Amino acid sequence: MVLLGEKETALPWVSALTVREVLQLGNPILRERSFPVEDFSELSSLKEDLSDTLLHWRKSTGYGRGIAAPQIGVLKRVVFTNVDEPWLLVNPKIIWKSPERMIVWDACLSYLTIFFQVSRAQQIKVTYQDMDRKEREVEAEGALSELLQHEIDHLDGILAIDRVLDLRTICTKGEYEKRYAKKNKES
Ligand SMILES: [Zn+2]
Repeated sequence: MVLLGEKETALPWVSALTVREVLQLGNPILRERSFPVEDFSELSSLKEDLSDTLLHWRKSTGYGRGIAAPQIGVLKRVVFTNVDEPWLLVNPKIIWKSPERMIVWDACLSYLTIFFQVSRAQQIKVTYQDMDRKEREVEAEGALSELLQHEIDHLDGILAIDRVLDLRTICTKGEYEKRYAKKNKES
């Protein structure tokens, strides 16, 4: 992984990127609980950092639909996803999970060398605040539901690998891509 400094300004005609180091499995910060956001004034630079970091990973690895602030060492309850469009969720909380479950392949930017199956709720309801502090609620199912459950877990120091369905499903990245990747692309 390429580590860039505070601002990448090697190409002056390209807008400065803020690609941050993604903490890797074993780093104890990933196991900490993040704090609720109270000061919303710092969110725009955090959003930029999360967005640039996610984009960098997607370009360099092909994976990266979402990232949580603690993955870049910021212990705040903030999740950023970019599936069809950028989306910042502040203080997100899962308020309902469907009893129906689904089995999906999962991995994480904090350990993109291993893939495994987890069981997630098929549908969830999430409350969160937007950048303007406005309270919002969203209902998600399928891939988006899985993504939000994965990212919101990070805010409590829970990693997807804690939820591995069966240790025997663990694959290296190479084996996962060879055997299963066409069905699903997780991160
Ligand atoms: Zn993750």
